[in-house]
Amino acid sequence: MTSFQEILSKKSLFKDPSVLSPHYVPSELPFREAQIKEIMEILSSALKNQKPRNLFIYGKTGTGKTCSVKHVMDKFNNYDSNSVMMYLNCRIYNSRYRVLQKIMKQFVPELDKSGFGLPFFYEKLVEELGKSKQLIVVLDEIDMVKDLDELVYTLTRANDEVKVGGITIIGISNKLSFKNELDPRSRSSLYEAELIFPPYTSVQLQHILLQRIGIGFENNCVEPSAINLAAAITAQECGDARYALKLILKAGEIAQQNGRQQVTDEHVELARKKVELDLAAETIALLPDNLKIVLYAIASITQNGSRYSRLDGLEEGFLFSGEVYEEYAKVSNILHKKPRSVRWYKEYLNDLEMLGLLTSTPSGKGVRGHTTLIKLGYPAADIVDLLKHSLHL
Ligand code: ADP
Ligand code: MG
Repeated sequence: MTSFQEILSKKSLFKDPSVLSPHYVPSELPFREAQIKEIMEILSSALKNQKPRNLFIYGKTGTGKTCSVKHVMDKFNNYDSNSVMMYLNCRIYNSRYRVLQKIMKQFVPELDKSGFGLPFFYEKLVEELGKSKQLIVVLDEIDMVKDLDELVYTLTRANDEVKVGGITIIGISNKLSFKNELDPRSRSSLYEAELIFPPYTSVQLQHILLQRIGIGFENNCVEPSAINLAAAITAQECGDARYALKLILKAGEIAQQNGRQQVTDEHVELARKKVELDLAAETIALLPDNLKIVLYAIASITQNGSRYSRLDGLEEGFLFSGEVYEEYAKVSNILHKKPRSVRWYKEYLNDLEMLGLLTSTPSGKGVRGHTTLIKLGYPAADIVDLLKHSLHL
């Protein structure tokens, strides 16, 4: 019989596994000193009560954008001043209304009750800024805001209206094409200053891993060659520090489960397969219901075999946009939700593609006229499992 004593007396490889979680913000961010300094220099004018330039930060996933900005935010908000910096993730606050509501809630807690209109928030905002406040709003994953041009316009107008205070936007995105999609007026306001975060190299990732392993693992529990392998795999795949950290955390868990004293190359290889799916699961958990349903529709058709694609001689795994829409509508009905129109559905496909959950290509002429072909980015069975659970199907 297993006893708790037996389980607890087993030596753990980890000192503190939470240090390896993506939510942990390390106190030191190597290789980002220059970027952090630049952000601080730009924001420093707010501390002299002058409006800083708006700043746009671009870089691929896991290049340290979010943690660098949060790092600066801690320092900024601990500095005694009339200024406030706040952070919003636009996956959640994805419209002008939601962003303004969230900003204003911080000043006026009673606004938590809903039912206020945009003009009300706008007036309150101008009133608050007019108390000579400098407000810095970080809009992380800013490309997720549906009516961004309108949001930028509204915030810029609020700035023009106040004489003493001001509002500054720090936009963050990992979408390269984003700049071109903006209307020229919002582009020139958002990009008053621009900062790029390059992907980490293998050597930099080794260093980042070593730093975290030192706090997260017990001494000498990870073989140096396993660290180098994790860094090399990551650099080759994406240069995403989050990926490297997950890889080493999973490798540690696997070693632990197998009762090993050390994490080796073999554990890193085994971890690699799990990590990709894990990252997808995290993204999926944050999706709004409609996007989940579309993704579920794609995965379940892929799993059960498309009725049409074989007929039309499509390559394995590709689906017609139209059949996915039908399935989306069907599943929505099962869930007692009204399916959105095709126009919205196309937006959803766009969003899912941007998150790397699917790829789409135009069908070209001949195959059912012009249509879009869709292919799931991960194994269908895994995605079906994940979503069945989270949609309560
Ligand atoms: P992004 O916002 O660019 O996608 P994040 O800032 O979320 O990336 O960073 C992803 C993960 O990698 C976080 O867990 C963070 O702690 C870690 N990380 C990123 N850059 C560094 C760095 N320079 N040093 C240590 N850890 C880092
Ligand atoms: Mg980020």
